[in-house]
Amino acid sequence: MLKWLSIPLCLFLVLSGFALAQNIAEDTDNAPRPVKLVPPPPPGPVYIRCGALFDGKSNQLETNVVIAVEGERIKQVGKFSPPAGAQVIDLPNLTCLPGMVESHTHVFLQGDRKPGQYDAQLLKQSVAYRTIEATTAAHAALDWGFTTIRDLETEGAGYADVDVRNAVNARLIWGPRMQVVGRAMDVTGAYPLQPAYAWDVPVPIGVETVDGVEGARKAVREQLSHGIDWVKIYADRGGRIHDNILDTIPTFTLDELRAIVDETHRERRRVAAHATGLLGVHNAVEAGVDTIEHGNYIAPEDMKTMVAKGIWFVPTPYVAEYDAQWRAQRAGTQPRESPGLKIQEDTFRRALQAGVKIGFGTDVGAFEWDMSPSRQLVTMVKWGMTPAQALRAATIGGAELMQMQNDIGTLEAGKYADIIAVQGNPLNDISVMQKIAFVMKGGLMFKK
Ligand SMILES: [Zn+2]
Repeated sequence: MLKWLSIPLCLFLVLSGFALAQNIAEDTDNAPRPVKLVPPPPPGPVYIRCGALFDGKSNQLETNVVIAVEGERIKQVGKFSPPAGAQVIDLPNLTCLPGMVESHTHVFLQGDRKPGQYDAQLLKQSVAYRTIEATTAAHAALDWGFTTIRDLETEGAGYADVDVRNAVNARLIWGPRMQVVGRAMDVTGAYPLQPAYAWDVPVPIGVETVDGVEGARKAVREQLSHGIDWVKIYADRGGRIHDNILDTIPTFTLDELRAIVDETHRERRRVAAHATGLLGVHNAVEAGVDTIEHGNYIAPEDMKTMVAKGIWFVPTPYVAEYDAQWRAQRAGTQPRESPGLKIQEDTFRRALQAGVKIGFGTDVGAFEWDMSPSRQLVTMVKWGMTPAQALRAATIGGAELMQMQNDIGTLEAGKYADIIAVQGNPLNDISVMQKIAFVMKGGLMFKK
């Protein structure tokens, strides 16, 4: 009897659920109307006259090039004259480039390397406050010339990065195009703040704690349901140096990693792996993740696997230099080149030689957002890239890493009008990328 009653009951519940959804959807007249800080792009064509141009494809600068922009996209790039009376933006003394792509950011961190900074953000600031700070960091990213970022976890702020991304897309606030990861995953006991405080004091943890193959699959499903673009995992922690190798402690087992990758790829999303040393990188690469973050040490065999599987490498050398600088400043000494940094440089040079795909990402947020992430381009050139290679890592490289190469990464017809400009020639002096004079995103001028 109960069984027969339950069918109409279920039907009633399902139908009333639909009715509620319809009510919410159809009530557009009374829908909330937030203030949007970002206008739609002007419909008419706009012509940008560039003194010089790096299009992201060639190794040279072209001089006196005009970019025609219509709506949010580029219509034409070439040596032609804008029609009489057209709207023209004149940049005769500037070099135009594609908007840059930062592949490893943290808009929810405002500097976390110095003692106490990370804990203070998680313990003393609400997620609401941190989200407001994240919007100012997103604003700063655009100001530094990064029109696209991949933000690699909120560090205790849940899925608030999904909200920041959506608010940018809805034109509520200025910010770059964003791909986000939400909470990231690590195993029990491996991630702050938990191991740092008394066992009987409950503290927040910067990631979602995930254990076991079934737990891993469930966590991926749950995280993806909240609208993230990537799954991020921590493959290792700690580390000691011996024989010029950074030897770290793996976190997840290979079976757990394989389950995460399998589940994520089945849902057509991808996995970013924080992996700093020998076994962390090895396990992540074996499991088939899509990007290796940091990769301070990568064994030659694992580099071969990365090339074979097309796994991206996102080295973050600037943070190590930053650490050396503030430590020296505090001690009143000169910064010393640490053995760790030497290993990073050697890994970078070997990866370049081996043909590993290298993206540009700095971990900004670990250092403060009032410093341009472009300073890392200088390090990458110092470590063997040509300026054009470094610029490509930070433009079309990042676009490919994020599978957005049809929309961004080069200046050519059909792509989004994500255009920046600097004074000087970045192919002669890459440090000029730290002084951005002009930023346009999707046909909208943000900075001039
Ligand atoms: Zn990071």
